[in-house]
Amino acid sequence: MAEKVTQTSSSSANIIVIGAGVVGCSVAFHLARAGARVRVFDKGGICAGMSARSGALVRMHYTFAPEAELAWKSHHYFRNWSDIVGGRCGFVETGFAVVVDERNATRLRANVAMLRGVGVDTEVVTAAELHRREPHASVDDVALAAFEPHSGYADPVATTESLAAAAKRYGAEFSIDTPVARIASRGGHASGVVDAVGRIHEADAVCIVAGPWTDALLAPLSAKIGIRSERAQIAFFKRPSQIKHCIYIDTIAGSYFRPHGDDLTLAGLGGWKSEAEANPDDFREANDDDFVAAVRTRLARRIPAMADAPYSRGHAGIYDVSPDARAVMGAVPTVERLFVAAGFSGTGFKTAPAVGASMAELILTGASTTVDLTPFGFERILRGRMIESPHEYEMGAGFGHKL
Ligand SMILES: Cc1cc2nc3c(=O)[nH]c(=O)nc-3n(C[C@H](O)[C@H](O)[C@H](O)COP(=O)(O)OP(=O)(O)OC[C@H]3O[C@@H](n4cnc5c(N)ncnc54)[C@H](O)[C@@H]3O)c2cc1C
Repeated sequence: MAEKVTQTSSSSANIIVIGAGVVGCSVAFHLARAGARVRVFDKGGICAGMSARSGALVRMHYTFAPEAELAWKSHHYFRNWSDIVGGRCGFVETGFAVVVDERNATRLRANVAMLRGVGVDTEVVTAAELHRREPHASVDDVALAAFEPHSGYADPVATTESLAAAAKRYGAEFSIDTPVARIASRGGHASGVVDAVGRIHEADAVCIVAGPWTDALLAPLSAKIGIRSERAQIAFFKRPSQIKHCIYIDTIAGSYFRPHGDDLTLAGLGGWKSEAEANPDDFREANDDDFVAAVRTRLARRIPAMADAPYSRGHAGIYDVSPDARAVMGAVPTVERLFVAAGFSGTGFKTAPAVGASMAELILTGASTTVDLTPFGFERILRGRMIESPHEYEMGAGFGHKL
């Protein structure tokens, strides 16, 4: 159990959140809703970081049960956004399929059993059943699929902005264009932050939610996660409106794709070829030509009618990849009352609502109850005890992160 904020009751605790991406805004919303005084600092604006570049798939298929639970609890938010958060998140229900060949068939069955135990609405379907649902899909190389009828995608900017607006309605203040230079500490505990012009902002606790920039804030405290900044790309292709498909994670071809409105398909790859570690402040934001060709080929393997789909637009972003490609969430071991939620490794959009709820509980009460975040704790990194899923898939080259 993490040390809770004991100086004040949760109704008046004064908490600083560093980072106004989708996760930081969710943490701020849940803290403010619980009655804390919250200030959010961002070196840019709201949604200035990687959240704006997200593919924003909202699916529950994970191989690690606690992560699936975060996705499942978050899915409830996406489907009931205006009631829970207010505003809009742009959620569109499309259905979702993970497709596997024989190599991964046993793993898929085991993972679906685990997911159903968590409560996720999912089932194993045969290639023939998948084809009945998805007549435009080629399924010759598919052994099995896991299907989620209620998954979909959202608008990452609208999602982040509505979380920020909801946090503000509960009294949270946002200091944008205000970089945090370092964490202030007194007597071994976080006492606030120092901004880039040397002003000290006091707080009872600080939560770093700074994506690929997180380690720069942790390094002076001897507590680096070891985040690697990996450039990842997504591209949008024009799709004839009569061609319909759901969201796919294609472990065979090694790609993911989803519809985007009625006439576009978004397709993405992570580490599909080796690249030097990226600088999140200075990286090539446009698509590479060879990426566009590679991802279209992989898309066409599943949806052959997309083989000549015209390229519309696209961009790159940065995955904040932790040593085991799973998020690090909880108390920072070297400094009391300092918390972190980072290293989401290319999958942190869809879990942001439940992550925010769980982090707020941890900060204010010392324990997270929406989802127990203990398995994601920082200690595992320091002790070299990496998260290993029992039924991790062998992925086709280029998917870019674990499931
Ligand atoms: C191309 C791409 C596709 C993706 N697709 C998906 C997907 O389909 N589904 C999914 O679930 N996830 C996806 N992800 C991952 C997901 O988008 C991220 O995990 C999520 O957006 C991370 O949010 P965040 O709030 O942690 O970080 P960010 O949005 O990066 O926010 C961090 C913020 O911290 C601020 N900051 C940093 N340092 C400082 C400082 N010193 N002082 C003040 N502010 C600071 C930054 O300005 C930034 O606004 C994708 C990511 C990429 C790049």
